[in-house]
Amino acid sequence: MHKTLISEMSWYEFRDAMAFNDLIIIPVGSNEEHGPHNPLGTDTILARELARRIGEQAGVPVAPEIPIGSTHNLAAFPGTVNVDPMLLRKVVFEIAESYVQHGARRFLFVNGHGGNSNSLDFVCDDLHAKYNDVIAMHSEWWKVLPFISQYKCDDHGGKHETSFVLDVDPDLCHMERAKTVPRASLTERLTYTDKFRFDGVNIPTCGVTLDKLTPMGNYGARAEEATAELGAEMSRIYVDYCVELVKELKRVYL
Ligand SMILES: [Zn+2]
Repeated sequence: MHKTLISEMSWYEFRDAMAFNDLIIIPVGSNEEHGPHNPLGTDTILARELARRIGEQAGVPVAPEIPIGSTHNLAAFPGTVNVDPMLLRKVVFEIAESYVQHGARRFLFVNGHGGNSNSLDFVCDDLHAKYNDVIAMHSEWWKVLPFISQYKCDDHGGKHETSFVLDVDPDLCHMERAKTVPRASLTERLTYTDKFRFDGVNIPTCGVTLDKLTPMGNYGARAEEATAELGAEMSRIYVDYCVELVKELKRVYL
């Protein structure tokens, strides 16, 4: 039987899978609040499931998910777990490096959490710096979908992200608690959606924790409008895109 998840393979099966493939997908998530209606593991659950769907469709192995990420700005919410971005960089690098020792040369990190992006930038550079014949990149659904679909995806636990969770497992969401949180902002002119903005102009970062902006923890597009159908549609578009990316990544001469 063909297997996608490395954790379900024996080492014989993994060795044989790597005999004619050098690309591995690694899901990276987070455990953090996503509003009163979503599970703490939302980012991990989505990264794992999207990675599995991509791996299955593209016929490439998927590594065990990394369940904990860097999420300092949500640390005030109970159940949120945060690790230092430089530690995450080191852990993800060493996981990827283990696969390099066993034949992997190409990596796609399917990231479920924005706070991990900086660490993954470093990991991709680190891998290529140490192994000249290794190429690595990361992908985030909320950064991809606005380019290839009508979905803007600038929410945290809002309509888009909640729809993804509903698609994976509707029993994980308490939709009766899903409410729109008024636009988060520090002042009238210093606003926050997916980024801080002053008079509408992006400010790359601002070290303010999210509990100062949104008491319920979610923000952006209306959470109560989330549906499993929307989640399935966005997932299909994103997975198809990533399958093409995997094919192209396999064509890169190393
Ligand atoms: Zn999330």
